[in-house]
Amino acid sequence: MDNDWDLETLAVRAGIERSQFGEHSEALYLTSSFVFGSAAEAAARFSGAEPGNVYSRFTNPTVKVLEERLAALEGAERCVATASGMSAILATVMGLLSAGDHIVASRGLFGATVQLFTNILARFGVETTFVSPTVPAEWKAALRPNTKLLFTETPSNPLTEICDIAALAAIAKEAGAWLAVDNCFCTPILQRPLELGADIVIHSATKYLDGQGRVLGGAVLGRKELMEPVFGFLRTAGPTLSAFNAWVIAKGLETLKLRMEAHSRNALELANWLEAQPQVARVLYPGLPSHPQHELAMRQQKSGGGIVSFEVRGGREAAWRVVDACRLLSITANLGDAKTTLTHPATTTHGRLAPERRAEMGVGEGLLRISVGLEAVADIQRDLARGLGS
Ligand SMILES: *Cc1c(COP(=O)(O)O)cnc(C)c1O
Repeated sequence: MDNDWDLETLAVRAGIERSQFGEHSEALYLTSSFVFGSAAEAAARFSGAEPGNVYSRFTNPTVKVLEERLAALEGAERCVATASGMSAILATVMGLLSAGDHIVASRGLFGATVQLFTNILARFGVETTFVSPTVPAEWKAALRPNTKLLFTETPSNPLTEICDIAALAAIAKEAGAWLAVDNCFCTPILQRPLELGADIVIHSATKYLDGQGRVLGGAVLGRKELMEPVFGFLRTAGPTLSAFNAWVIAKGLETLKLRMEAHSRNALELANWLEAQPQVARVLYPGLPSHPQHELAMRQQKSGGGIVSFEVRGGREAAWRVVDACRLLSITANLGDAKTTLTHPATTTHGRLAPERRAEMGVGEGLLRISVGLEAVADIQRDLARGLGS
C-alpha cells in the first residue's frame, strides 16, 4: 500500500481486498470456515506453510480489511481485531504477561479495566500498582524489577486528565517494559501514540471508530513481534471480532476524520458556553486554556476531542436536575456516538466505588460528563440550559 497517503485517504481506502466479482464496497464474508481444494492444501493452510483463511476464529477477510485500515491509521505494523475493547485489553495482557509480572497503571482508567487488573489478573499472579496519570515521577517510583507493562488512557474518563505519552514511553523503555495506551478517546485522527514512543495501542472500536453506537469491537496494535502472541491468545481463546462487526466498523472509519473534527469543534464550543454559565463551577476539557494540562494536550493531540465534563453547583440534586430536564441528549454512559450522551459518573460508571475513592479521584456529586455528538451545538445548549436554569 502507498505509505504517502494522508490519513483521510487511508481511512477510506486502506485494506481493500476485492473478490473475483470486483465489488467496489468492502465485501462482508459471513462464513465460519473456509474450504480447501485438496487434502494437501488443507494440510498446508493448517500448518501455516501456505497463507490463507482456515476458520473465522483465526482470520476472516472482512476482519482483515478493518485490521489493515486501522493499522495504517495508527502507523502500526500490525493490528489484531477483537470482540470488544475489554477483550483487546485481555488479549494484550494474556498474550504478553505471565504470572509474577507486574503492571503500573493510571488511576484514571476505564472502570472495567480496573476491575480486570485488580479482581481477575491478580488471581493469576499479575499484580498492578495504580499511580497518578499526570505525575510521571510516580510511574518511575512504582517500577519493580518484574514490571513488564505500563498501561494508560489519555484523556482520562471522566476527568479528561492528560498523560504525557512521550515521558511514560521513556520511563518504560529505561525499565525494559512496554507502554500500552488506550487511544479510545482520541482515535488516530487526533493522537498517534506509537509516534510518541508507545509500544502498544488499544481501542474500544465500540466508541468513535464505529461512531454510531451500533456494534462492539476492539483492537490491539503494535510491532509484529508483540502482536504475534496477542493474536496467538485470540485464535486459541476465541474473543475474536465477528465479520459483521468488522464490516460496520471498517465502514465507520471512512468518516472518522470528518466526525472527529466535528466532535472536537462542537465540544470546544459547548465547553466555552458551559464555562460562561454561572451554575457551572468548573469545566474539564483539554481544548480549553483553563485546563491544567492544556499545553501538553495541544502538543500531543490535534484537538481537544469530543468529551466534556463539568461540575454543577449544588451537588447530586443539581446534577440530576440537568440530566432529567434533557429532551434531546441521551441519558447513557456510552460515548463516541453521533448522538450526544450525558452521564452522572458518581451514580453510574463510578457508582460502585467507595465515596472516599471517588472523592480522591475527583469524581464529585456535581460532576456530569458529556460525549458531544454531531447535532447543532445550539440545540445541545438549549437542552442543558433548561436543567441549569440558564
Ligand atoms: C468503553 C471503553 C473500553 C471498553 O470497551 P468495550 O468495547 O466496551 O469492551 C475500554 N477503554 C475505554 C477508554 C473505553 O471507553
